[in-house]
Amino acid sequence: SLTGKTAIITGSTSGIGLGIARELAGAGADVVLNSYTDEPEDHALAEQIAKDHGVSARYIQADMSKADQCRALIEQAGACDILVNNAGIQHVAPIQDFPTQKWDAIIAINLSSAFHTTAAALPMMRAAGWGRVVNVASAHGLTASPYKSAYVAAKHGIMGLTKTVALETAEEPITANAIGPGYVLTPLVEAQIPDTMKEYGMDRESVIRDVMLKRQPSKDFATVEQMGGTAIFLCSDAAAQITGTSISVDGGWTAL
Ligand code: NAD
Repeated sequence: SLTGKTAIITGSTSGIGLGIARELAGAGADVVLNSYTDEPEDHALAEQIAKDHGVSARYIQADMSKADQCRALIEQAGACDILVNNAGIQHVAPIQDFPTQKWDAIIAINLSSAFHTTAAALPMMRAAGWGRVVNVASAHGLTASPYKSAYVAAKHGIMGLTKTVALETAEEPITANAIGPGYVLTPLVEAQIPDTMKEYGMDRESVIRDVMLKRQPSKDFATVEQMGGTAIFLCSDAAAQITGTSISVDGGWTAL
């Protein structure tokens, strides 16, 4: 059980981050939700998790595209036993048309944020004598797809960061690993259906079947609950010697 542990999940008002937060709370962890907004709905999500699971849950606003706010999130939380670097965005375009500003934002949110939060969290984990870093990478951390240059670069980058953090903490009771989801039908994926329809000149059903799930041999979306379950496993004693690696939850995508 994760009772008494504090988990900070970046980008957790939606999709995989929210799913992981709910599962960790279900396993007894106190959770800190995060996004860049500061709306009543954000705080309501935390209140609901606290009520559902009898844990403490808070929402802390911080923009993961800004180095100082990444570090401030960890400082403001005051404790960080489990750090889940999940915040991520996507943009789909051929390289010659890929906006520089989108490239910069994706590298900042999907990759650099994890460097800043990890740097701020490791001293707290060392002081507590236990820690888990769980980076939400992607099948695109191990393979590529056209039109996703920034995303694929950031996800390969976070695999490298994961290994480095693992080596720097190897002799301590701290582990760092990545989860590699295949396609999960979250708002992020929903939002790229129209662009992909345009790129390939296909209708919605064809994009889902022939583009998205084409490379997912199971022909099924993975779920946010499965990502949460994998995060719980990585936080368990059974996973204490698992560090510097990744677990693919991708229906066989990276076996192809
Ligand atoms: P989502 O869009 O549903 O959720 C993303 C979350 O990040 C939201 O809560 C959003 O508010 C937050 N966020 C966005 N920009 C932020 C910022 N600047 N600062 C703080 N928070 C910010 O997306 P998702 O599908 O749940 O994706 C979550 C992670 O999982 C991402 O890293 C994504 O790359 C990864 N992933 C998703 C899939 C998939 O199929 N959905 C597959 C592989 C990897």
